[in-house]
Amino acid sequence: MRLHRIKALRSGIISKEWLFEFYNHFAEHYEEYSFEQREDGFICQIENKAKDWSKKCIINYTENMSVEWLEQKIIVPEEILLKYNYLDRKTIATVLYQMLNKNFFICLENIYFLNNEDYLNIVKAPSYGCSLYPDIYINIDEIIKKGNKFSEMYETSEEDLEATAKYMTVCFLLETLFHEIFHLIGEEPVLLFNFGRYPVEREEKYANMFAKKMLKQVKDKKILLMFDIWD
Ligand SMILES: [Zn+2]
Repeated sequence: MRLHRIKALRSGIISKEWLFEFYNHFAEHYEEYSFEQREDGFICQIENKAKDWSKKCIINYTENMSVEWLEQKIIVPEEILLKYNYLDRKTIATVLYQMLNKNFFICLENIYFLNNEDYLNIVKAPSYGCSLYPDIYINIDEIIKKGNKFSEMYETSEEDLEATAKYMTVCFLLETLFHEIFHLIGEEPVLLFNFGRYPVEREEKYANMFAKKMLKQVKDKKILLMFDIWD
């Protein structure tokens, strides 16, 4: 299995010095490049004029990461927070931070939760989530719809229906987040440079496998209890 990229990510934390050195060498391969320091990392802009191609690489230092840092990156509109208070940003950040090692967040800028309309305006195709490097977009309307639909297939009583819908929604949400984080890190230059790209036709399969495996671990570790879904 070509999951050595994931194994490499898990095998140790990539340090600030290593990242800075890597990007300095990496950028020198391009005609034009620039560095911009940020409080928690740096931005490396690379450009290949002949091919009319450019990329803005976001690099977050693992040393600066924390649950609070990750929470700040999750942008959820007020209307969604009020309506679905069990989808709390801190809980989501805590679960992701606990389940994935810090390397998975090196190139993450933001995770946006959007309603269907705003999602389609950006992503342009209906889906549950999408990674557009360096951001991840989550279509919360579609995830909630899927959670409700599945709970109706299993439950008959009104009370159980609501609890099951919340449970299913949280499961689908986490699975989608793991899936999109997998796609996002696939575009990370450190990994591309060292391990190459997944074949396009297989990347989706690996993303699904990874997300399902992570969700199973979340369930096994009883981490879902962190979400306020059984009141
Ligand atoms: Zn996918």
